[in-house]
Amino acid sequence: MRLQVLGTAAGGGVPQWNCACPGCSGARDHPGRRRRHASLAVQAADGCYVVNATPDIADQIEACAWLRPGPGPRQSPLKGVILTDAELDHTIGLLRLREADRLEVRSTPVVRQALRPFADILRPYLQITWADADTIPISGKRPRYAELPAPPDSTGWVSASRLTDGAATLIYAPAMGVWPDELDEAFATADCVIVDGTFWDDDEPRRTGISAKTATQMGHLPITATMERLSRLPGRRLYTHFNNTNPLLDPSADQHKTLAELGVELAAEGMVIDL
Ligand SMILES: [Zn+2]
Repeated sequence: MRLQVLGTAAGGGVPQWNCACPGCSGARDHPGRRRRHASLAVQAADGCYVVNATPDIADQIEACAWLRPGPGPRQSPLKGVILTDAELDHTIGLLRLREADRLEVRSTPVVRQALRPFADILRPYLQITWADADTIPISGKRPRYAELPAPPDSTGWVSASRLTDGAATLIYAPAMGVWPDELDEAFATADCVIVDGTFWDDDEPRRTGISAKTATQMGHLPITATMERLSRLPGRRLYTHFNNTNPLLDPSADQHKTLAELGVELAAEGMVIDL
């Protein structure tokens, strides 16, 4: 199984269009620090998929050699999209794929239900086949647009995606507000895990003024709460989904040394992982 990291930023990207924080300003001054929204391309035995459909999806497909169209004039190797949740930064790219003839979208039932407005808009353009994804449930945290009216409680709102080709397994969990036991079991046998690195520490959203909530309250365990547990896993471990407030956006930050000592990597734009 071959993977390519298509993006590594949390919602808004780096730089975010309306933000002049040090992380975003740094990325404007140093184009090498720019990060597209977190996404992953997967070349598996049954075809090519993208995990999460971000606002950057068209550029991300262009940036991945094995997702380029051909040999026919309107022939794309992209078979479908796998969703970890229904957040806008992970789903809005579905609208950008409306030129497709057909597309498979894999998710949990509750995410599928939340995306019904997208399905209605896209129906005249392409044929979407909805299917269940292979997931490990993480939490019932709903996107803000789906908070009211309150639907029945469900744990299917945020999940980790399990991608396997029989020989190798990857777990992708870009949003982890909690670390359930089921995830521990899945991580223990995975060859590679790529997980939520949105915030470095729990107070970061409040300290930087972007929210009155802590990182955990926003649905993201901070890196300081997960890095040691990750370091004990047997497979390769990487962080992704970095918010523009995360000190790791600065390549000279001390926090890079802490992660290197623990053997935990940062996913990078364009990184290819063969499993
Ligand atoms: Zn910013």
